[in-house]
Amino acid sequence: MHKAREFVSSHSRRFALFADKETMPLSNITHLIIDMDGVLYHGDRAMPMLPEFFTFLCERSIRFILATNNSTRTPQEYADKLARMGVQVSPAEVLHSGQAAARFLAREYPKGTRVHVFGMPSLKQALTDEGFVLADDDVQLVVASMDREITYEKLKRATLLIRGGARFIATNLDPTNPSEEGLIPGTGSMIVALEAASGVKPQAIGKPEPIMYQLAMDQMGARPETTAAIGDRVDTDILGGKRAGLITICVLSGSSDRAEAEALETDMIFDDIAHLLETWRREEGAA
Ligand SMILES: [Mg+2]
Repeated sequence: MHKAREFVSSHSRRFALFADKETMPLSNITHLIIDMDGVLYHGDRAMPMLPEFFTFLCERSIRFILATNNSTRTPQEYADKLARMGVQVSPAEVLHSGQAAARFLAREYPKGTRVHVFGMPSLKQALTDEGFVLADDDVQLVVASMDREITYEKLKRATLLIRGGARFIATNLDPTNPSEEGLIPGTGSMIVALEAASGVKPQAIGKPEPIMYQLAMDQMGARPETTAAIGDRVDTDILGGKRAGLITICVLSGSSDRAEAEALETDMIFDDIAHLLETWRREEGAA
């Protein structure tokens, strides 16, 4: 009984979302915010129809931002990785959680504000790109993310600065990252150490916080009603898209399965981007 009611409410919500638009759901989308790992590729393996998917977007002038919580690569490195898979994107079309943190903070703090970074060079670059000055003392902010060269000294430095009153920002809270060897420690695993030591909960910026989606939409000049979030993780990509008021598309080629996607009332579910592309082409043909 409960299940049936859930289905009806989810179905009518989906219907209501598109009922006033007189076009098919996919044809209505003008902008996309796309997660990368588990959606476009697995590690170094491209998903089927990857170049064709981007050709389709280009032909229809559908603008996109590739948004990831993983701030350990620079936008140029992500663009290079996709180029090796036959897809040309501009580094400006990539937004990682470290850049999102830097842009979010740049709205509140003047250029030259001193910030301590606990993280990789790509995070440091994101902050200096926005005019912040990197420092190890007398800072207003501590921005933390995954550091593959984590040491006790680094944990100690960041802890003392946060205890001294610096505002504590986390790029994201994902406890693990997928790898070929299995799930390995991610940003969230390091954040809990800093949180335990400092006694302070950080403000998180990456998915599932809506901040990242709002920054991506601002950059594209997009509106939430015609923007879709595509992701493979329900608890970050899809939840974040919902919080930002976007259309949500889950692909089952990564972390989450159909039951998880349905439980969160994801608007559309596809096996992978090849299945999404095929459906989108069919709808365009019929429109
Ligand atoms: Mg993913």
